[in-house]
Amino acid sequence: VIQVKHLEKHFGDLKVLKDIDFTINRGQVVTIIGSSGSGKSTLLRCINLLEIPDAGEILFNGENILGGSMKPAAYRSKVGMVFQNFNLFANKSVLENCMIGQIKVLKKSKEEARAEAMKQLKAVGMDAFANASSTTLSGGQKQRVAIARTLCMKPEVILFDEPTSALDPEMVGDVLDVMKKLAQEGLTMAVVTHEMQFAKEVSDVVVFMDQGVICEQGSSDQIFNHPQKERTKQFLSRFM
Ligand code: ATP
Ligand code: MG
Repeated sequence: VIQVKHLEKHFGDLKVLKDIDFTINRGQVVTIIGSSGSGKSTLLRCINLLEIPDAGEILFNGENILGGSMKPAAYRSKVGMVFQNFNLFANKSVLENCMIGQIKVLKKSKEEARAEAMKQLKAVGMDAFANASSTTLSGGQKQRVAIARTLCMKPEVILFDEPTSALDPEMVGDVLDVMKKLAQEGLTMAVVTHEMQFAKEVSDVVVFMDQGVICEQGSSDQIFNHPQKERTKQFLSRFM
């Protein structure tokens, strides 16, 4: 679905991404791991067009989206993103949060949007909170609503940027369970995470980033059980 080729991104003199090449195939879960500052968020933000790369290509179903004709809002409905801090609309209810993109971007009627929103809220176990104000929810509940909101857009891929790292420990499991369920259902996803057990369990491909380059990538078994590079071993030893 997504192919990243020779991607480069600098902020001033700081080279944050250097010659990044990787692919997210349909139905795959790709997890991206690496130390703080290694460029993981910047990579997802480039794929979602929240940052504009300095060089390279991002192909979505074979079409280069950089300088292409697709409108960002339409593209982002196909390539959804879930953030560490949820980014819900605070002054809107849970239901409205899940309806607004469908109405504005997908041009659905209110009735259709409401029905889809309720379906997705149910899938993440948040349908009982449909009329609650999003500000009254716990972090874990907010993140499940944010996932439902993204699912409502019927994306082909969802990018998750550390979806559980702003949560209290007891909430992390609920959100990871929702993500595991989506993975089992065959949703294509790329997940930046520090939850190594989760990554080990669900990943088809693990990408280890170090200082703006992909140091090593491979299957979950290759990366977690048989890492080849010293840097990968060093990084993983902190979690074992
Ligand atoms: P973390 O695990 O802490 O989230 P990360 O791997 O997601 O780290 P990035 O957020 O992609 O790392 O940042 C990579 C580098 O780019 C860091 O040195 C960061 O300070 C820098 N950086 C990121 N965004 C910007 C920006 N908008 N302007 C300048 N520098 C930036
Ligand atoms: Mg980050």
